Amino acid sequence: MGNRIGKRAVLTGANQPIEIWERESPPAGPGEAVLKLEFGGVCGTDVHFWHGEVPLPGPVVLGHEGIGIIEELGEGLTTDSAGTPITIGDRVYWQPVTPCYSCYSCTILNDVSMCENAFASLFGDANAPTPATYSEIITLGAGLPFYKLPDDTSSEAVIAFGCAMPTMLQGMERLGGIQAGQTVVVQGSGPVGLAATMLAHLAGAHQVIMIGAPERRLEMARQLGADHTIDITQVTSVAERTERVRELTNGRGAEVVIEAAGVLEAFSEGLQLVAPAGRYLIVGLWSAQGTVAVEPRLINNGNLQIIGTALAAPRHLYQAIQVAQKHQNQLPMAEAITHRFTIEQSQQALEAVAAQETVKAVLVPA
Ligand SMILES: [Zn+2]
Ligand SMILES: [Zn+2]
Repeated sequence: MGNRIGKRAVLTGANQPIEIWERESPPAGPGEAVLKLEFGGVCGTDVHFWHGEVPLPGPVVLGHEGIGIIEELGEGLTTDSAGTPITIGDRVYWQPVTPCYSCYSCTILNDVSMCENAFASLFGDANAPTPATYSEIITLGAGLPFYKLPDDTSSEAVIAFGCAMPTMLQGMERLGGIQAGQTVVVQGSGPVGLAATMLAHLAGAHQVIMIGAPERRLEMARQLGADHTIDITQVTSVAERTERVRELTNGRGAEVVIEAAGVLEAFSEGLQLVAPAGRYLIVGLWSAQGTVAVEPRLINNGNLQIIGTALAAPRHLYQAIQVAQKHQNQLPMAEAITHRFTIEQSQQALEAVAAQETVKAVLVPA
């Protein structure tokens, strides 16, 4: 096999126009896989990178949610990271993050989601073979976790929740589950909030209340299991929204509140929505730098727990495939994809996500 040439979308610096570079990728080395992109997910975090809210080390190929088709397998690579046999033409799902399995987080904390070296592969040389997903040709380096999609599992149902579902699966794990009879409030109706809604519904929550906007996303939330939606463009004050949640919960608030809004103010609002002895899971503030005023007394006097969760571990990607396989026909997961762009249109894709025109945008090769 010779070199492959493909286009990739490169962010050269904060707020710069997205550039399309054409680069060669060599044949798969030992333990490597070369893929052709099927779908790349466009994530709100990519917009944060673009806007410079998260500093980058230099030009990077964007994209951390992908499904690709295996074109070539390097010597010794015969299974995915779960031991499932793989062959040319199989669809696989990955994130361009390779845990090192040798740092303090990986070996002492036993938490590969916080691997201190994992971002090296995500922010690698933009000229080199890349595992990033705004790219026609993808090279999965040796040791990068990836998982085969079973033949009956829709690529769209998985990529619609590209990094959102693994992120929420880790979040649910860290939360410690949801019991029947509990009310769950989800703040934020982007893909992470929609994944939270779906998982809370599937976990048997008594009711799921989604707080978000616009209506198109709230409608999606209802289809994925939200019992009530509160449109922040209609119910515009924190006091009114708090009152609405209290009306729905016999005045107590929600046993579980999940922050997936990505804005700082959501934190102080969410704290007021948690019922006594309840739990508050913070998922969406990863790139939201800054401070916000809160009343710590609420945590103290309410016996509240506040739980953070960042990113995901490889097992959560595997579980995300399983969630899609089991629920893709009952819940309209794939319909969350509202926008498709080519790699050349990456900047338009980012603009659409930034403007919240999308439920989910994906990139497909031209
Ligand atoms: Zn993401
Ligand atoms: Zn590590």
